[in-house]
Amino acid sequence: MTAVRKIVILGGGTAGWMAAACIARMFGTKDHTIALIESPEIGTVGVGEATIPMINMFNKILGISAADMVRETEATFKLGIEFVDWGKVGDAYLHPFGAYGADMGGVSFIHWFLRHSAQTGTWDPGRFNLETVAARTGRFGVLPNNDPSRPPLNHAYHFDAALYAGFLSRYSQARGVIRHEGTVTEVHQDPDSGFVTALDLKDGQRIEGDFFIDCSGFRGVLIEQTLKCGYEDWSQWLPCNRAWAVPCKRIEAPVPYTRATAREAGWQWRIPLQHRTGNGYVFSSDFIGEADARDALMSRLDGKALAEPRKLSFVTGHRRKMWDKNVVALGLASGFLEPLESTSIHLVQSALSKLMSYFPKDGFDPDVEDHFNRVMLGEYTAVRDFLIAHYKLTEREDTPFWAYCKHMEIPDSLRARLDIFHHTGNYVEPPYELFRENSWFSVLAGQGLRPRSWHPVADMMTGEELAHHMTQISNLVATTAAALPAHEAFIQYCHGRRAS
Ligand SMILES: Cc1cc2nc3c(=O)[nH]c(=O)nc-3n(C[C@H](O)[C@H](O)[C@H](O)COP(=O)(O)OP(=O)(O)OC[C@H]3O[C@@H](n4cnc5c(N)ncnc54)[C@H](O)[C@@H]3O)c2cc1C
Repeated sequence: MTAVRKIVILGGGTAGWMAAACIARMFGTKDHTIALIESPEIGTVGVGEATIPMINMFNKILGISAADMVRETEATFKLGIEFVDWGKVGDAYLHPFGAYGADMGGVSFIHWFLRHSAQTGTWDPGRFNLETVAARTGRFGVLPNNDPSRPPLNHAYHFDAALYAGFLSRYSQARGVIRHEGTVTEVHQDPDSGFVTALDLKDGQRIEGDFFIDCSGFRGVLIEQTLKCGYEDWSQWLPCNRAWAVPCKRIEAPVPYTRATAREAGWQWRIPLQHRTGNGYVFSSDFIGEADARDALMSRLDGKALAEPRKLSFVTGHRRKMWDKNVVALGLASGFLEPLESTSIHLVQSALSKLMSYFPKDGFDPDVEDHFNRVMLGEYTAVRDFLIAHYKLTEREDTPFWAYCKHMEIPDSLRARLDIFHHTGNYVEPPYELFRENSWFSVLAGQGLRPRSWHPVADMMTGEELAHHMTQISNLVATTAAALPAHEAFIQYCHGRRAS
C-alpha cells in the first residue's frame, strides 16, 4: 500500500470547505498537501442554511465559538423546527432539540407525561421542554453563572451558506490548504486499478493526487461521472424533487427556530438570519407545476423579495457507494435527503468524522471502504425513515399530494416503529439512529399519532404525586426560560454590542 501524500478536494461548497477545514485541522499539512478546486463558473448550490446541534461538535474541533458563527455568518440560534399544517390544517407543533422533563424510575419522562396527559385530559409536552418554552417566548442565551461562551440550551444555527463557505475557506487557507480556481474538464485514472490519478482544469493546469474527495455537488464528477457508482432513488417515499429558494427582507426580530409550513404539494421553509430571511418551497413536480410553485412561494413571503427565486432540482436518494477506490463522496455528491430536518450538513460532518477515523494514511483497504459505505447507508436510511414519518402521518387529503403521502406504502422498518410507538409509547432505536426518542416523540405525537398506553412504572405514583411532580418540572422550565435574554439581545451580545 502506498502512503497518501496528496489530498485533492473537488468542490468549494459547504461540503468541500468543511472537508478542507477538518482535514487541515486534524492532520495539518506537514506530511501531505491538501488542494481544493472550485469552479466560479459552476458555483455552489447556495442553500443549506439550517443545522442541527451536532454542528457544535464540529465547531469545537475547529475551535469556532458561537460568537464567531454569529459574527462571520450572520447566524441566528436555532432551538428546533416548528411544523405548521402537517398533521392537519391548523395544527402546529415544535420539534425541539432538547429533552422533555427528566427520566424517572428507569423509564423515560415521556411515559410519565403520557399518564399525566390521560389523567388531566390535556396535551402540551412543550411545557416540559426548555427549548420549546424558550422558542415560544423568543429567548436564547446563557443562564446566570454559566460560562458565557457555552450557551446551555441545546441549539444549532441558521447561517448564510455563502458566508459559511467563505469563513471556512479563509480558515482552511490559513492552515495551508491550497485553493485552485477552475473547472475540471478531464479526469485521469490508472489503467489497471481505475484509481483516479489527476484532474485537468479548463485552463490547462493538471492537479495530481493520491486521495480525492468528491464534493462536486449533485453532478458527482468523480463518484458518478467517472466511477459510475450508481444512485438509489428513494423518491417513492419522499416525492419532493424541486425547490424554489428566495431571500426576503426581515420584518421582525429573528425567532430562534425554523418554520416548516406544509403547502399544497410540499412545504415552505422560513429561516431567520440577521440580515435577511431565507425562504424556499420544496415541492413535487408531479403534483404542482414549477411556475405555480414559484408564484405560491412569492405570494407567501413575510417581506419584500431581495432577489429572483432560484430553482433547484434533486432526486432524493444516495450513491450506491460513497467510497470507491481512492474517491470518497461527501455532501450532495454522495446523496440527498430533502431538507425538512436540516440533515445534509450533519451528514457531511458525520462522514468526515468517519473519514478521520479511517483515514487512508498508508493506502486503501477495501474492508475500510465497505465499512464506511455500510455505516453511511445506515445513517441515510435512519434519517430517511424519520422524514417519511412526517409525510405519512397526516390526516390531510385536501390535495392530491397529501392524499398520496397519507396512503403511500412505507418501508417495513418504519411501519414496525410506528406500530410499536402507537401501541406502547415505546421508542425503538435501530442502529445508526441520528434522531432519538425525544425527536421521534415530538414528530409522531405532533402529527397526531398518540400512544395508546405507557410503561407500567409510570403508574407507580399516585395521581396527586404525579400532578405535583409535573407542576414542579413545568415551573422550573418556565422560570429557567424567563431568565434568558431575548434572542436578538444575545445575538448583539455575541457581536460585542449591547442590545438597543
Ligand atoms: C433546496 C435545498 C435546501 C437545503 N437546505 C438545507 C438545510 O437547511 N440544511 C442542511 O444541512 N442542508 C441543506 N441542503 C443541503 C446543503 O445545501 C448541501 O448539503 C450543502 O450545501 C453542501 O453542498 P455541496 O458542497 O455538496 O455542493 P455544492 O454547493 O453544489 O458545491 C459543489 C462545488 O463543486 C464545484 N464543482 C462542481 N463541478 C465542478 C467541476 N467540474 N470543476 C470544478 N469544480 C466543480 C462547484 O463549483 C462547487 O464549488 C439543502 C439543499 C437543497 C437542494
